[in-house]
Amino acid sequence: MMADSVEDAPRLTEVVPGLLRIRIALPFPPTEVNAWLLRDAEGWTLIDCGVDDARTRALFEAVFTDPLLEGRPVTRLLITHFHPDHVGLAGWIAERIGVPIHMSRVEWLQARLILADPPERALDAYFAQYVRSGAPESFLTFLRQRGLLYRKWVGALPYSYTAIREGDTFQMAGTSWRVITGEGHAPEMVCLYSAERGILIAADQILARITPHIGVHPADAEADPLGAYLTSLGKFEGLPDDTLVLPSHGDPFTGPDARITALRDHHEERLGRLMDFCATPRTVMETTQVLFRNLPADQIGFGLSEALAHLRHLVARGDLREESDADLWRFVR
Ligand SMILES: [Zn+2]
Repeated sequence: MMADSVEDAPRLTEVVPGLLRIRIALPFPPTEVNAWLLRDAEGWTLIDCGVDDARTRALFEAVFTDPLLEGRPVTRLLITHFHPDHVGLAGWIAERIGVPIHMSRVEWLQARLILADPPERALDAYFAQYVRSGAPESFLTFLRQRGLLYRKWVGALPYSYTAIREGDTFQMAGTSWRVITGEGHAPEMVCLYSAERGILIAADQILARITPHIGVHPADAEADPLGAYLTSLGKFEGLPDDTLVLPSHGDPFTGPDARITALRDHHEERLGRLMDFCATPRTVMETTQVLFRNLPADQIGFGLSEALAHLRHLVARGDLREESDADLWRFVR
């Protein structure tokens, strides 16, 4: 039995021979993230690493000498995508133990770009998107005061990395793993599938109890990330029902197709509700009340990005049209 609270959970558990799970506490929702260790001839590949804070650094100092690693070193760091809970500590680990970081090119560039940009620039872009979404003044003031948090949780990254592409294969945990990339939650998220072992390392593409956040990013404000997500989910369909899915958040589970169907139904149901609601022109902020039962003040930004992603997808499908002016986006059936 897995302990329910990450604080009480053992640091490392063996999922299957040669594959270990690390449960890492997060300072923000969804409160914990999984990292994975896969053994190969030379040592271990570490997949993902949590945020860069004192607690996570201390955790990894203990992990590196844990008896379950059998005295073998971590020889490779693989990061699934650019979000803080996955890449945050990567720079520190790479330097601490002298290993290269493997990432897809888009995820790597995205992380390096956000870290390289002056933070005010990104904040201005977020601010403009939330204003056009009809965000309340109280949230805009809160955002200006708080600022963006990416740099708070993501440490500096080295100058160079090793690129991973769709279709690449890795030999780990006694088997071969093929890279499948997911889109929509992040632009080129790396997932790994072993047909022989029947295991999918799913990153944030397919989660057990929560749905991955799909939001419109102000750097690409006209995009349809929900369309990209639903399309890329197709790459994960048709895997055997006994496939063990290792999600980045929550416990491993079997039956990827059933979960993918539930994720598709979830989005379809929300799209339907939005279509009904947009009988008259609606701002993005107005539509959040249809999508979220309650939206805590510090989560309004996520809510607006997610609502906008659903609205944009309905426009892309031809079910809604945009009736916007310079100040506000509005969507109507
Ligand atoms: Zn995540």
